[in-house]
This record gives sequence, structure tokens and C-alpha cells, in this order.
Amino acid sequence: MFVFTASNSLRAHLDKARERNVKIGIIPTMGALHEGHFSLMQTAINGGFLPVVSIFVNPAQFNDIEDYEKYPSTIPQDLQQLYSMNIDAVYIPAVEEVYPRGWKNLENYDLGELEKVFEGAQRPGHFQGVCQILHRLFNLVMPDTVFMGQKDYQQCMVVSRLLEIMQSRIKLEICPTVREASGLAKSSRNLRLSDAEKENAASLYKNMTYVKTHLQPGNEMALLQIALNDLKLHGFNMEYLSLANAKTLMPVERWDGTEPLVLLAAGKMGSVRLIDNLLI
Ligand code: AMP
Repeated sequence: MFVFTASNSLRAHLDKARERNVKIGIIPTMGALHEGHFSLMQTAINGGFLPVVSIFVNPAQFNDIEDYEKYPSTIPQDLQQLYSMNIDAVYIPAVEEVYPRGWKNLENYDLGELEKVFEGAQRPGHFQGVCQILHRLFNLVMPDTVFMGQKDYQQCMVVSRLLEIMQSRIKLEICPTVREASGLAKSSRNLRLSDAEKENAASLYKNMTYVKTHLQPGNEMALLQIALNDLKLHGFNMEYLSLANAKTLMPVERWDGTEPLVLLAAGKMGSVRLIDNLLI
């Protein structure tokens, strides 16, 4: 496994690999790796891709400085796991390497309505930051495919939009959400939950599953309210629990029973912000 901190040495390494006609798969992460990340890597490996993993806590995508400063970092353990998974190249750049002229006032992407709803509305600038880092990583690595998790459903839609804007041939492969036995979606931020908070956080998946199984045209709002009440009892401070069109992400208040939906949720358990989604 090769570990790079400088873009030019990673570029040279990948240029050589491309001479062997390999397909390159990139798995961008912010580290504190868990089973969710490993499943993306395994999908890339199973698909015959040369797996390239980036670990970079991207300051440009944090709208909350405390969230950025408290973001977990477990680089030594991450590297050990990547080594045992036979990852080819790991890129761990410093902020100055990625953004030599600073990370404020970077370029802007036209994400349309996608940026005005749910995570876009709750985290101003977040998806611009996601595009700013991924555009740079895509130009550097020139992958055939990028592997991302459905856990960040709206982010996947943003990346698909970014690839359109870039007029890129890179394919986006979306991998299923990996969960704890309790149903809680694996997340690096779970490291910041106490045992009691972690137990309560599992109520998010339980309530979302409840909504998914009981949803019928006409009961949408009542059902969401039942779930919201239960989440509150479990200590969640919810930002949203909403239904949206699974293709456009436009909010849906009245369901016709056929429109493909996604149930989206975001809320804080203690000081930790968690998100999740279920396709319906
Ligand atoms: P992050 O390190 O949180 O930026 O995540 C890096 C990638 O891993 C993103 O594509 C995420 O969607 C994906 N990911 C994070 N958590 C999970 C999970 N529980 N299951 C599947 N993919 C995940």
C-alpha cells in the first residue's frame, strides 16, 4: 500500500498504474473509518477496480466550526485497516496541499434546488464544499468510478450533478447503508456518542422503519408526527423528518401511493448531528 500526502507523487503513481490498463476506483472519506467505508472499498475491489482511498477532513464543507474541530481522527488505525484490505493508494493531504490559496472564496457550483432543501438548507455552503473537494480529487485521480454511500443520499445527488457540470465520464456507484445491529447507521460521528446516547440514537432507524411500513396515501403527516414525538422522547432534537421525491428531492406532503419516495432525517443526539434515509 502506498501512502501519499503530495498530489504530484500520487499523480505519478496513478499514471504508471494506468499504463497497466487498470480501472481506478476512488473512495473519498474523511477518515475515522468504519464498516460503511469498508463496504465501499470492498465493492470497488470486487468490481476489479484499483482502489484509491482519500482521507481528508475538508474544512470547506463544514458550516459548524465545532463540528469541524471535533471531527474524529483515527489515522493510525485507519491505515492499519486499509493495509489489511489491500488498498493500493491512500491520499492524506494537508489542507494547504488541497487549497494552496485558502479555502474561503472558492469557486461556486450551480446545484439548483438541491442546495435549497434538507441538508442544503440546514448546512449553508456544505454542498459547495463537497463539490470543491471532489472536483479537485476527481481531477487529480481521474478515476473511472467513484464509490459513495446511500447514507448520504442528498450528497450522492449533488455528486451526480457535479459530474454533469464537469461533463465527466466518471461513474457514480451508490452503495447501501451499513448499520449497527441496532439499526443505527454507521457513522464516524457515532464515536462521539455516549453508550446511552447510542442506544437512544437507534430510535431513529426504528421510527423511520415504522413510517416506511405504515405509510399510506393520506396518513403521511400524522405518521411523521407520531415518529417525531417518539424521537423527542428518546432525546432527539430533530431538524427534519420528511418525505421527498426520490429523484428530485422535492418535499412530498401528499403521496399518491406510486411516486418513488425517500424518507430523510436529520437531528441532534446530544451535541452530535446524525442523518439517515430510507427509500420507500
Ligand atoms: P465520510 O467519511 O462520512 O465523508 O463518508 C465517506 C463515504 O462513506 C461517503 O460516500 C459516505 O456516504 C459513505 N458512508 C458513510 N457512512 C456509511 C454507511 N453507514 N454505510 C455506507 N456508506 C457510508
